[in-house]
Amino acid sequence: MESLREILERIYREALDSLSKASTQREVQEVRVQILGKKGSLTQVLKQLGSLPESERRETGKKANEIKKELEGKIEEALQRIEEKEREEAFLKEKLDVTLPGRGLPLGRRHPLTQVLEEIVDIFNHLGFEVVEGPEIELDYYNFEALNIPKGHPAREMQATFFISDEVVLRTHTSPVQVRTMEKKRPPVRIICPGAVYRCDSDPTHSPMFHQVEGLLVDRGVTFADLKGVLTAFVHEMFGKETRLRFRPSFFPFTEPSAEIDIECFICKGKGCGVCGQTGWLEILGSGMVDPAVYQFVNYDPDEVSGFAFGMGIERIAMLKFGINDIRLFFTNDLRFLRQF
Ligand SMILES: [Zn+2]
Repeated sequence: MESLREILERIYREALDSLSKASTQREVQEVRVQILGKKGSLTQVLKQLGSLPESERRETGKKANEIKKELEGKIEEALQRIEEKEREEAFLKEKLDVTLPGRGLPLGRRHPLTQVLEEIVDIFNHLGFEVVEGPEIELDYYNFEALNIPKGHPAREMQATFFISDEVVLRTHTSPVQVRTMEKKRPPVRIICPGAVYRCDSDPTHSPMFHQVEGLLVDRGVTFADLKGVLTAFVHEMFGKETRLRFRPSFFPFTEPSAEIDIECFICKGKGCGVCGQTGWLEILGSGMVDPAVYQFVNYDPDEVSGFAFGMGIERIAMLKFGINDIRLFFTNDLRFLRQF
């Protein structure tokens, strides 16, 4: 049978072994309880000392106390070792390398339509026009009637309109802003009106919502020569000084005479290609002298003042400028598309 002395030595060896394997404070505490707790193995031995013969009791008791003291020291050491290790690990985890390059914030950019719009506005600002904006939900009166398009007029058919009620529409052009401005302001008027407009239409070159810039200049003695001068200056700024352009007779209900402006196709240089429909020309602008009938709605005297108006689609200009073949790409928010500009 194992003597108490042998049991003590076994307890000591096993305790050292367990302590060396312990990797958390909790595991060390468990070893302490197993050996020194109320029901611990060493405690049990100490309780049995009384049953030993006197001769052995003293020496075994001394040995047991030595072992107890030593184990208490070893337990303390193990706790300190683990605590230090945990602290070191925490330091490593929280360590910052301040020499690492920073992570950049993703940068946004302006939408291609915004870029083109800003360019157009900038050119007209330099020509003395100021920007005016108006409501997108508009009265039939401002969208049609005051622009010389009474109810039943065939020109209404040209603009597939979203009606909200009999008298309220989503504006089909930004021209109502011109009427609203002339109601409030006496000539001279020199404005451009950028903004969203709506027509019931959707295909690769038409979107139910798109953007226009329209302009108006009214003053004493304004002639078609002024219209040509201003719009030629605009085309040369926008598309380059060498760009050839032509004025082609057209019809708009609120201007007379009216002209559309074409620029020479910059893809085929006028020879004819798929983009220009083999004509060699690209239509970019509508324009004309303001019809005197319009002045009656805003109490201007057509014998005293005259003026011209023009309008263009921003999407169309952007499509030509950037070579985009589907208008819907502007509104699908595909980053692969947007990042190209
Ligand atoms: Zn062409």
